Amino acid sequence: MNYDKFKKNCFEKLNLKQEIFYKKYNINSYPKWFYDQPAGILTFSNGEDELNFRYYQVGTFSKTTNTWLWSWDKEDTPKKMKNKLEEVKEFGIKHGFDELTKAYFESSKNIGWEFSSIACELLNGLAAYRPETENLFIFMIIYEVLDNEKANEEKNKFVDCEKHERARRAFVCEHLISNSEIGFVESFETFEDMEFKSDDDDIEAWCDKCESIRLEHNGWNDESIKLIKIKLICEKCYFEIKSMNTKK
Ligand SMILES: [Zn+2]
Ligand SMILES: [Zn+2]
Repeated sequence: MNYDKFKKNCFEKLNLKQEIFYKKYNINSYPKWFYDQPAGILTFSNGEDELNFRYYQVGTFSKTTNTWLWSWDKEDTPKKMKNKLEEVKEFGIKHGFDELTKAYFESSKNIGWEFSSIACELLNGLAAYRPETENLFIFMIIYEVLDNEKANEEKNKFVDCEKHERARRAFVCEHLISNSEIGFVESFETFEDMEFKSDDDDIEAWCDKCESIRLEHNGWNDESIKLIKIKLICEKCYFEIKSMNTKK
């Protein structure tokens, strides 16, 4: 396979997809956009109505350094998204397309559209989107329509943390917030960035004192839950607390 030919083909396909997508969802009538990177949700809004989509971030183009950076090499890319973009890199390795395997290099901003069209083709995207910030052009692939209720539910599973920016939510008893070595009991064994078995799962822990309340009442129920205070924190804070309270 010839890279230029492949690229051209992907680009033509993307143009067609863009046309269909913009028309179908009347995207231009939604002047505002927001994206929730940890949740992987892109939202278009016109003030009254919302449209929500799942997206992958392909990469970013820096306006200040004129450089491209693939998301698979970007530290703050959520793991799920990173794994998906790795597929594009793997494809590059398999076919000897060096452009897809070099993480970071100087280029022009058109490179973002080229790579987006390739990612859109390989990852079955519906369209590409390119929001911009002060310093960056962000290239995204939209791949799934999400109903608004589900989108809000998913966005609520992330919290803005003063210390760690936005991350997945977690719950701990109030004692764990500011103490150490007071025990750390979890509802299931956790590790950072883990994938949950069920959508309803949350990372949660409580101290030894709260554990004795739980045992006295045969588990967490309406009665025992009233006797403790639960705090909402970010997943990164959770694992810091865990390491301070887990006996070695
Ligand atoms: Zn406690
Ligand atoms: Zn935090």
